[in-house]
Amino acid sequence: GEKKRVKQANSSCDASGARYGQFVSFKHGMQTLIDALESRLRSAGVLVVQDQVRSLQRDGSQWQVVLGNQAIRADGVVLGVPASTAATIVSTVSPNLSAELKMIEFAGAAVVSLGFDQQDVSHSLRAAGMIIPKVAGKRILAASFSSSKFPGRAPPDAVLIRTFIGGALDMGIASLADEEVVKEVLIDLRTTIGLHGNPSIVQVDRWHRSMPQYNIGHVERMKKIRQAEAQLQSFGLAGSAYEGVGIPQVIQSGQIAAANAIKDQAISE
Ligand SMILES: Cc1cc2nc3c(=O)[nH]c(=O)nc-3n(C[C@H](O)[C@H](O)[C@H](O)COP(=O)(O)OP(=O)(O)OC[C@H]3O[C@@H](n4cnc5c(N)ncnc54)[C@H](O)[C@@H]3O)c2cc1C
Repeated sequence: GEKKRVKQANSSCDASGARYGQFVSFKHGMQTLIDALESRLRSAGVLVVQDQVRSLQRDGSQWQVVLGNQAIRADGVVLGVPASTAATIVSTVSPNLSAELKMIEFAGAAVVSLGFDQQDVSHSLRAAGMIIPKVAGKRILAASFSSSKFPGRAPPDAVLIRTFIGGALDMGIASLADEEVVKEVLIDLRTTIGLHGNPSIVQVDRWHRSMPQYNIGHVERMKKIRQAEAQLQSFGLAGSAYEGVGIPQVIQSGQIAAANAIKDQAISE
């Protein structure tokens, strides 16, 4: 299945593009998307504030967005922050919404990026990556074969592998030192893809409390959240905590939130 899919995807992509149809990224990484969005918003006259938002208050027909040391007025608000932070920000204007947002749990993970000489890996890596089921008894959750997935991620004769470890069922990863995490990853890679050398590049990125957990009851909770959100004028919630964690779903949630934020009124000049 996977081999056939890769072969088909390879033959249908041009040489300079992503090698697998459903995997798309930017040459210089995902920050490109954020930078483009910020620049588009600025040129459309949207005020981009780097400060941390502390709370939202109603001020007549407008919002007052309270920041570290100032407050700004806004006609509409899209709140695209983690649900636990959103809970604090809306606690005065909607205690009900705040209470539901607070109940959404998050887990963390570490991403270990490793560069190897191609000859140090027995496996061909002719796949997008691998997902490791719990029954396999490994600590890593998944590995992305980045240099197979996207062009330009490693020099010729080298490979880049990004390994995911942690998650809701292995919270202990957060308290392990980077060297310990790398050690765990290398043990599992040796037995899964026949790794026999040491990495020439090692990078550990921690993603604390970044993965929302759609626990049992999430669908019902979302109904309450959407009802409470709709009671707030010119307001929308966006982000991975609600109805999908993938970037396309998060973008869609932002588009819906933006429509909600402007639907109640004509935006003032
Ligand atoms: C390790 C990992 C790998 C992933 N890989 C993929 C993948 O390959 N493909 C895919 O589709 N998805 C992937 N995802 C999922 C996807 O990246 C996330 O679900 C998505 O980026 C979350 O977007 P968000 O806007 O909800 O949250 P974030 O991107 O976390 O944005 C929240 C923003 O709120 C800001 N903020 C926080 N507090 C405040 C405050 N008080 N005031 C103002 N701003 C504040 C933060 O600075 C941040 O910019 C991955 C996730 C992880 C953790």
